[in-house]
Amino acid sequence: MQTQLADWIKDTPRGLEADAILRRCVHCGFCLATCPTYNLLGDELDSPRGRIYLMKQMLEGAAVTRRTQLHLDRCLTCRACETTCPSGVEYGKLVDIGRAIVEEKVGRTPWDRLRRWLLARALPRRGLFAAALALGRLVRGVLPAALARRILPRREPGAWPEPRHARRMVALAGCVQPAMAPSINAAAARVLDALGVSLVEAPGAGCCGALPFHLDYQQDALAYVRANVDAWWPHVEAGAEAIVVTASGCGTTVKDYGRLLRDDPAYAARAARIAELARDISEVVAAAREKLDPLLHKAARPAELPRVAFQSPCSLQHGLRLNGVVEALLRDAGYALTPVADAHLCCGSAGTYSLLQPDLSRRLRRDKLCALESGDPQLIATANIGCLAHLAAGTSLPVLHWIELLDQQISGSESGARVRSQSRESES
Ligand code: SF4
Ligand code: SF4
Repeated sequence: MQTQLADWIKDTPRGLEADAILRRCVHCGFCLATCPTYNLLGDELDSPRGRIYLMKQMLEGAAVTRRTQLHLDRCLTCRACETTCPSGVEYGKLVDIGRAIVEEKVGRTPWDRLRRWLLARALPRRGLFAAALALGRLVRGVLPAALARRILPRREPGAWPEPRHARRMVALAGCVQPAMAPSINAAAARVLDALGVSLVEAPGAGCCGALPFHLDYQQDALAYVRANVDAWWPHVEAGAEAIVVTASGCGTTVKDYGRLLRDDPAYAARAARIAELARDISEVVAAAREKLDPLLHKAARPAELPRVAFQSPCSLQHGLRLNGVVEALLRDAGYALTPVADAHLCCGSAGTYSLLQPDLSRRLRRDKLCALESGDPQLIATANIGCLAHLAAGTSLPVLHWIELLDQQISGSESGARVRSQSRESES
């Protein structure tokens, strides 16, 4: 695509990056078929190609309106279009730039500003979110059904193994996950302990930065990124082999830390090293096959295991490009996976999208749950806390992180017992 960026942007770092991305697009339209919002709305301006045109026009100096903002806001940043694109257009990076510029040019209504500010400030604060969630659980019975369904019941984490191995890795604690499902990182710690690796969490590390970043609070997001780099660096210097992330949405952000802080001389080198060390938990477990397979062989009890529908989050398949890794691990652990049609489509969670675009989000969840439940599973497994909470609010099936299923097979932990009893309850 030929471009002629306006003087106010063309020689800036954002302009140069956007221009390089725009020039790769050849207008072929292959991406339209895999775009969830185009599938739902049928409007070219709600497709990747349409949004690329809108951003190109804006960067070339055309007037920007709230209409432009609406079409960019409706994008889930699921990046299915990147997986489909034959020209390697990095749409996710482009839309981050485009959204920030639209916001600078047209602003937001006071209500929109307020709710985005609240989300950007409240969700990443672990203590604040945990207190709000505890209160929500207390009064769940008197809340409107739609709100009550969003509140996950408390999940006991089970024991976190004492660090006893020479091999160490650091887990991203995150922001909402420790309150919503502390069982996930604890299960990861038990699985890695069985594989000869001690997993620790670093005090001082918290939100990965993704939530504020995608709400256009990019400076807030970078403050979280820097705090994590500072908290993890002593562990890296002490020999930690990896930064392990159990939420695939956060994993895509941590792997991008090098780019995000490339212009900060105090952090650029350390952030780049952290990004190199970042691993989704599935990568770490899959790389330990030699130790894993004998454990699974010893433990497998396929007849007792529930049938599982695996929802592969967009961040796992389009962001991290880890297609099929979790599915192979679950199958080898003895779980029967039920078929899921249109697995490339987003479930509608997408960070805060379910709160900011509730109608589209619900329609996407309805379609996703239809696909997930069509094979008569006894539970749904996923790899991202946002998808887990979003799907759980729309189904009576238990929704768990896949590492909790593997934990059951390897360590026979209490969380594993819960896997079985929940799947039995959902059948009765
Ligand atoms: S990121 Fe997802 S929703 Fe956005 S344009 Fe691409 S495919 Fe469509
Ligand atoms: S598939 Fe890629 S090159 Fe084709 S229109 Fe979409 S973004 Fe552009």
